[in-house]
Amino acid sequence: MRCRRCGQKAVLKMPRHNTAVCGGCLDRFVQKQIKIAVKDHRMFSPTDRILVAVSGGKDSLALWDALIRMGYRTSGLHIHQGIGQGIGDYSSVSYRKTRAFADSRGAELIVHSLEENDGAGVLELADITKRSPCSACGVMKRYHFNRIAHEYGFDVVATGHNLDDEAARLMGNLLHWQEAYLMKQSPALPKTHERLVKKVKPLYRLTEREISAYAVTRGIDYMIEECPMSAGSKQLVYKEALNRLEADAPGTKMYFYLGFLDRQRPELLAGEDAKLGDCERCGQPTSLPVCSYCRLVERINVAHETL
Ligand code: AMP
Ligand code: ZN
Repeated sequence: MRCRRCGQKAVLKMPRHNTAVCGGCLDRFVQKQIKIAVKDHRMFSPTDRILVAVSGGKDSLALWDALIRMGYRTSGLHIHQGIGQGIGDYSSVSYRKTRAFADSRGAELIVHSLEENDGAGVLELADITKRSPCSACGVMKRYHFNRIAHEYGFDVVATGHNLDDEAARLMGNLLHWQEAYLMKQSPALPKTHERLVKKVKPLYRLTEREISAYAVTRGIDYMIEECPMSAGSKQLVYKEALNRLEADAPGTKMYFYLGFLDRQRPELLAGEDAKLGDCERCGQPTSLPVCSYCRLVERINVAHETL
């Protein structure tokens, strides 16, 4: 298989664009898609300080790699989730891959451990809340992404969500008619509160396959294993369904999600968070008197007191 652009050996077939690309052309393609994303959604400028949330997986490491190469001012933030125990467990390996990447690029990495700083890792949190580990993990991650970005003076938080993630999320939101979530599902969430930092997803135009191929050609050593907690999640079922549609009609995922964005009304995004107040305990923005993070911490404290 040859690259349709330059004739060199191709590394990736791209049915949705009816083409195949070599490593160099894939690299240009990835950077171009990020450029379009950044421009179309006014994500950040060359002078902005970007906090990249890095899990150690292919998406976030590829994102960090590309942003560094494109000359942006970035630092990484890794949340140590406390999934598994010992040096070979999921969270420790994720951390080590992230650390090795940061060191190889001479980039700053901020690390926050849930066990050490919040009193419980994700497994214990699931036990305490009796709910799926993903929901407590999500609350913790969102809270610390925002809090740390604000405290360190970053202009924006960037995550590695890709086209597959966003299309699957859109499918879930539509199937359950989650109108409030549909209004807010965007690759760029503006700053709507003094302590709420802007959030962006610069990889939303790229598929998981394209990002994996980019990471491999760039020699990035990433965490291949999926989070063990996500097995059986609805998100994975939607991804599978979309992959079947995509195999039958290449480009379906792209038309589905990008078509949705074309039809979305921007004023809805700005309006939704307008009623945010300050959490009574920690002062972070929330729509309730006490934010979900502080309510979670309270449950950890109660569980520890009754032990
Ligand atoms: P996921 O929800 O696991 O698919 O992750 C989506 C994005 O959230 C990743 O691409 C990262 O940018 C960010 N993220 C997930 N887990 C972590 C983590 N432990 N530390 C920092 N960022 C994370
Ligand atoms: Zn709070």
